[in-house]
Amino acid sequence: MTQHLVRTARRDRLAVPPTRGRLHALVGGRRRPRRIAMLSVHTSPLHQPGTGDAGGMNVYIVELAKRLAALDIEVEVFTRAISSDDAPTVELAPGVLVRHVTAGPFEGLLKEDLPAQLCAFTHAVLRTEAGHRPGHYDLVHSHYWLSGHVGWLAAERWGVPLVHTMHTMAKVKNAALAEGDTPEPAARVIGETQVVEAADRLIANTAEEAAELAFHYGARPEQLAVVHPGVNLEVFRPGDRAAARARLGLPQDAAVLLFAGRIQPLKAPDVLLKAVARLLERRPELRERLVVPVVGGPSGSGLARPESLHKLAAQLGIADVVRFHPPVGQARLAEWYRAATALVMPSHSESFGLVALEAQACGTPVVAAAVGGLPVAVQGGVTGTLVDGHDPDAWAHALEAYVTDPALVARYGAAAARHAAAFGWSASAATTADVYAGALAARGGARRRLA
Ligand code: UDP
Repeated sequence: MTQHLVRTARRDRLAVPPTRGRLHALVGGRRRPRRIAMLSVHTSPLHQPGTGDAGGMNVYIVELAKRLAALDIEVEVFTRAISSDDAPTVELAPGVLVRHVTAGPFEGLLKEDLPAQLCAFTHAVLRTEAGHRPGHYDLVHSHYWLSGHVGWLAAERWGVPLVHTMHTMAKVKNAALAEGDTPEPAARVIGETQVVEAADRLIANTAEEAAELAFHYGARPEQLAVVHPGVNLEVFRPGDRAAARARLGLPQDAAVLLFAGRIQPLKAPDVLLKAVARLLERRPELRERLVVPVVGGPSGSGLARPESLHKLAAQLGIADVVRFHPPVGQARLAEWYRAATALVMPSHSESFGLVALEAQACGTPVVAAAVGGLPVAVQGGVTGTLVDGHDPDAWAHALEAYVTDPALVARYGAAAARHAAAFGWSASAATTADVYAGALAARGGARRRLA
């Protein structure tokens, strides 16, 4: 079902020598863009991920942009300024410029308020481009549906392709909501449908996500391309677990079941806590060794009740086992992964789940819900365990193996590091560049047909 819907971009062989022109020559005679406008309206690549609106998409944009720049594709990322301290432009890395756009007040706006600011944002993007010679950007790559709307107009105005990455989709999220969680509004579904209609190419993280784009939003096969996200293998690499535990103040003999990421119902950290409570009911002797660090901050609908997970830990009688830590930078997070016995990811929905890949790259197995991209990120029975559903007893059973069987942890951990090593960001960027080239080539073909 999925396969015929999906056109996975491939790296073709260099068939023709580079030709002169504004665009870079590319593999297979197709041209790569020289400079692109990347749109990230609601969250900046300069923000700390792991809380609020900053998460995997921020990491995705940073890593992708840097690797594209290494391929000689300049990237300018437009994002909404949220502080008067935000300089108009910031160089993130050589070849990657972040442009802060004024669209509405710096403070006090939630992501939900931003649809009303898209006109102001688009205006600023168009003005920036108008300050350059025509043809400044060869392509627009928008991230998340809000940016897709800006990209829709900008790409049409500049006569360039629009490539869009959804990151998450309202219909998919709503189909897998946690109990009592707030559904995504109909306006977002309508907005996403319009972006799908407008985009030249839609980049999906996995074949499953591509199939969802087709099924829920009517994406056409020729629009779809699958590009797996990557992991920064320089930051996230295996290391000394004992040293990591010493640095983090964790006991050397502990069984550490780590949760890392944004704290919101969709990520289901409550399932981990309930499972730990069940496990301790059955195996009270494990209590002395068990540590459950929760690294991250409240986000999304979790912002309304930031203390709810603390309360749940107390209600379950495991407040002594659970430790809450604010979000940390990537190098420190790598220490947490190395220190962990297993990373636990009970999410209800996950378009990919970068933390699963990062933990594995550090040699740590992952116990994950069998949803969304997680079965691609995690090889069940090889690099971790994929759990169906969210029954705390099933999760307790899955976790018990990790807490009691060090040989399994070592075996899965070694396999996890090997598995994650195949997911470098350079490969993601190269495939993305090929998607860009395909979109440009298709536009060229259409223009030739019209002429
Ligand atoms: N992250 C971080 N610090 C933290 C917790 C998380 O930098 O304390 C990062 C983590 O490295 C990962 C991202 O946040 O790259 C979360 O991405 P994921 O795809 O797992 O979830 P999302 O936030 O996209 O839902």
